Parts: sequence; C-alpha cells; structure tokens
Amino acid sequence: MNLTAESHRIPLSDGNSIPLLGLGTYADPQKTPKGSCLEAVKVAIDAGYRHIDGAFVYFNEHEVGQAIREKIAEGKIKREDIFYCGKLWNTCHPPELVRPTLEKTLKILQLDYVDLYIIELPMAFKPGDALYPKDENGKYIYHETDLCATWEAMEACKDAGLAKSIGVSNFNRRQLEMIMNKPGLKYKPVSNQVECHPYFTQPKLLEFCRQHDIVIVGYSPLGTSRDESWVNVSSPPLLKDPVLNAIGKKYNKTAAQVALRFSIQRGVVVIPKSFNPQRIRENFQIFDFSLTEKEMKEIEALNKNVRYVELLM
Ligand code: NAP
Repeated sequence: MNLTAESHRIPLSDGNSIPLLGLGTYADPQKTPKGSCLEAVKVAIDAGYRHIDGAFVYFNEHEVGQAIREKIAEGKIKREDIFYCGKLWNTCHPPELVRPTLEKTLKILQLDYVDLYIIELPMAFKPGDALYPKDENGKYIYHETDLCATWEAMEACKDAGLAKSIGVSNFNRRQLEMIMNKPGLKYKPVSNQVECHPYFTQPKLLEFCRQHDIVIVGYSPLGTSRDESWVNVSSPPLLKDPVLNAIGKKYNKTAAQVALRFSIQRGVVVIPKSFNPQRIRENFQIFDFSLTEKEMKEIEALNKNVRYVELLM
C-alpha cells in the first residue's frame, strides 16, 4: 500500500473511500473549555486532515460543523473533501428514531449529509431524553431491540442521501454476521469502529473484517486519555512503551507516530484525538516513513489483549 499524505484514503465496499487518518473529537465536556473542539478541527484541516470522527453524545458536534463550514467559507476546502463520521446513540435504536436522529445531527452540524453514519454500540438503552437512563438502583435501563431493524433504518438513511456510507462500532464477529446474514440485506456495514492499537491489536476481528471487506477504524489508537472515569488504567500507558520509543528514535519520530503508523500500515484507519495544535500536527506526520516487516512484527508482539475501553455498560 502506498501511504502518502496525498493518497491516504482506502476504498470502502460501497464505492466510497475513507481517509486513513482522522481527528477524534471526544473530550469530557465538563473538563474541556468551550471552543476547544472548534479550534482543533480548524487546526487539523489546515494541517491536512480530511476525516473527522464525532458523535452526538460528545456534545461538541456544533463546533465540528462550525469549523468545517468556516474552512469551506475560507475556500480552504470543499464539502466533498471532508469525511465526517457521526454516530447513532443507544437510546435511538428503534427504527422509527434512526432517521430523525440523523436529521438532528445534521441540523447541529448544519451540513446536508454525513459521510459515514455508524451504530455506536450494539446494545440499546430505553429511548427518551435521558441519554444514560438508569433505574432507582442506578442500573442502566436497556431496551429490547432488533439490531437488524435498526440496520434497515440505517440503509434507508443511505438511500435518502443523508449518509453516504453506513457502518457499525463495537460490534463483534457474531453481531457483524447477524447483519450480514439478514434476509434482504441491501448494504453491508462498510466499517466497524473498535478499540485497536499495539496493546490491543484485534488480530481475529481484523482478519474476519478483511475477509468481508469491512474496514476497521481503530479508536483510542494512542491508548486513550487515561481518564479514570471510563478508562481501564491498570493497562500501562501505551506511549511509554520502550519498543515504540526505541523504534521512534530510529526514525526521529515519537511513540505516538510509531503507534499510528503501525495501525495504518495494517490497513487500520486511525482517529487519534488531540485538541493541542502541536500534537494534532505531529499525529499527521506519519506518511513520510515506514516500518519494516520486522518492526511491524515486534510491535504486533506487544499485544496484551486488554482493553482500555471496557464499555462495562
Ligand atoms: P486516543 O486518541 O488514543 O488518545 C487521546 C489522548 O492522547 C488525549 O489525552 C490527547 O491529549 C493525547 N494525545 C494526542 N496526541 C498525542 C501525542 N502525539 N502525544 C502524546 N499524547 C497525545 O484516545 P481516544 O480519545 O479514546 O480515542 C480517539 C477517538 O476515538 C475519540 O476521540 C473518539 O472520536 C473515538 N472513540 C470512539 C469510541 C466508540 O465507542 N466508537 C470509543 C472511544 C473513542 P491532547 O488532546 O491534550 O493532545
């Protein structure tokens, strides 16, 4: 694969394509100053990013949309240059809620379509205003859901032109097979967004998805922000890894750049989050070096098969 900054897109099974590097935009809304996401997306676009990963539940989609629209108005980019991925939240799985939920996201973004719309998680919560509905004992209130019916509503969003491509997130092999074996399937998921990095390399899921033309989008590719409220911090910090740092030294690159390069060289799309201008630019500088087969194997051997993002819900 020729991975230059100019040609850093890979094909999707529906004829569209996805940039191998995107900007993740999840940051704790309580701890993040307003406007940080807006500035980060603008810096990223200026640095060459064309793929932005967001979600309604990140509570900053309005900033992402504003940044994209400002850069279009400046003449820096056209809408078709940008690849935006949005996500369907757990409380919106009933088929009749899918299109209105995407329309709400489009209204927040002030865009006409998203490039990719994905089911964020394979389980549903009780629909309603509470995004994390809980009972009097503090337990999540789940909702009987037919993922195949949700998927049919996703297909209708693609047909309506509201999403160019449709995919899933946090799906295991069984859940992917359930969709792919659905009678009357119109479009299969083009991608599956899952945790993926040198400490959690997902070899089996990656192979399964390769066989079925499903692109893996690797989230937390730098090992997360290590926010103890949702991250399993008993797994050591990825970016302190001696092997990643030693390989980085050889190429005059950081451990973060080596981790990202490792993923894209395996055909895994990466969406590192940074709201820091210097690190946003640093994370983009991964198209001017390549890892040898031996180094790829060395990094693959770091797999601990432990998730940072356990999604205990
Ligand atoms: P990540 O991208 O692995 O790491 C982000 C953390 O690394 C931030 O604290 C960031 O801080 C720091 N960082 C960024 N670049 C760095 C560099 N070059 N050197 C050192 N530190 C660096 O973690 P993530 O946010 O968990 O995952 C990325 C994105 O994936 C999310 O933003 C979201 O879009 C998506 N995601 C999706 C799901 C899902 O269920 N589908 C779950 C988790 C995440 P600064 O901002 O200060 O640079």
